Amino acid sequence: MIAEEIHRITEALPDGVRLVAVSKFHPSDAIREAFAAGQRLFGESHAQEIQRKHAELADLATAATPLEWHFIGHLQTNKVKYIASYIELIHAVDSPHLLAEINKQALKAGRTIRCLLQLHVAEEETKFGFTPDEAMAYLDSGAWQQLSGIQLAGAMAMATNTDDTARIRHDFHRARQFFEQAHQRFFASDPTSAFNELSMGMSDDWHIAIDEGSTLIRIGTQIFGQRQY
Ligand SMILES: *Cc1c(COP(=O)(O)O)cnc(C)c1O
Repeated sequence: MIAEEIHRITEALPDGVRLVAVSKFHPSDAIREAFAAGQRLFGESHAQEIQRKHAELADLATAATPLEWHFIGHLQTNKVKYIASYIELIHAVDSPHLLAEINKQALKAGRTIRCLLQLHVAEEETKFGFTPDEAMAYLDSGAWQQLSGIQLAGAMAMATNTDDTARIRHDFHRARQFFEQAHQRFFASDPTSAFNELSMGMSDDWHIAIDEGSTLIRIGTQIFGQRQY
């Protein structure tokens, strides 16, 4: 079942789009099963849970088959230190303050951590994420250029939780416009720029997200079923 869904999804992915298997609230054995089916990229959204699984699965990855952990949820500043030594990409960076802490912990760990700016484009009220205008103003400030422990790698967004596909497409489109404008203004002249990820799309809306330029889809329920705890 897990293997089947992974194959079904990955076969449908255009070039340049990667699947993040969202394993939150599923046991480490489910990750083992997905790994055996060829999945290498996993997303978690709670610091304690990813810590536990990272330890439980220490035997799983090898040099030839590395496992890549992404943090996709809201990350509290005081939790960054627990994941800084191994996290490959933090999707939901929602404040300059969090970015500064990631920078600090990355430098301490002797690493560069890739980060995405979380955009608020959905209809629902939330205290998390930059509006596209706020994110652009942050990039304009240039503050991020001083942070040598982080690499701004793109943007992440969630669409409105609705059945209205026009609304979902509209939300993803706004994220895409931000991403393309930001790339053009701040990163296009830098050949080494890694500002090339647009993380959008979940179990119910990933087809639309891919139409709108997503490079990372984050899928939990469709692969692993209903969350277990
Ligand atoms: C849980 C979660 C997902 C996966 O959602 P599904 O609907 O189970 O595919 C994707 N992105 C984020 C940020 C999440 O917290």
